[in-house]
Amino acid sequence: MNEREAFPADALNDAGLNRQFVFDLAGLPADMVTKLAPQPGERQLILFGHGGRRLWDCVQAADLPGENPIDDYSTATVERWFAEQLPGHRYRILFPSEHPIGLQALGKLAGWHQPSPIMVGVDKEWGSWYAYRAVAIADTNLAPTTPLTGRSACPTCTGQPCIGACPANALANGEFALDTCSRYRLQPGSACAHGCLARQACPVGSAHRYAPEQIMHSYSRSLAVIRRYYA
Ligand code: SF4
Ligand code: SF4
Repeated sequence: MNEREAFPADALNDAGLNRQFVFDLAGLPADMVTKLAPQPGERQLILFGHGGRRLWDCVQAADLPGENPIDDYSTATVERWFAEQLPGHRYRILFPSEHPIGLQALGKLAGWHQPSPIMVGVDKEWGSWYAYRAVAIADTNLAPTTPLTGRSACPTCTGQPCIGACPANALANGEFALDTCSRYRLQPGSACAHGCLARQACPVGSAHRYAPEQIMHSYSRSLAVIRRYYA
């Protein structure tokens, strides 16, 4: 391959998609590449994420209609970034979309995902206050990102306050019991209908904790999914 291009991160950082990771397809596990079904010329996968509050502020400022404003904003931001920063390159957005993609598997390869008792990953810097927002496959020749290491907070956590904060005891023994959690959230007047008390009890990355409105938004969406599942 010719000399690699530096990753143009500034516009993404400004727009709240402030975590990015470039994978060479050639360096990914073969079964993962097969599922991605790359087209001729496509040779890189780019993972876009956010950490902290800025993305939500940007989404609010964009004031998009529709049920999925974070997805719509993230897609539009990635499209604009390609057009402005990498003109002439071909890409396809694989997420958000109907394309099945293992975000957590990518997160593990990037060093973003660190297992925790609370189902979501917990990173030393961001705590649980980050998420995967978009994935694109492209014909780019960007410098691949070096995976993060040493980012896990849970093994040295004193007292593991998340576990005791769960009113449903759904994290007993450090294992997440999805059914127990879901049923508790569906109870009338549940304290967890629109937020996870265990997640909020985790002290790691608390400076990046989402605004209450963002927590309400994402947990209302997951509650709707649970309602449909248990209907
Ligand atoms: S409270 Fe401790 S064990 Fe629980 S998620 Fe946070 S760091 Fe991990
Ligand atoms: S949402 Fe509530 S019941 Fe579920 S894990 Fe969090 S604290 Fe426990």
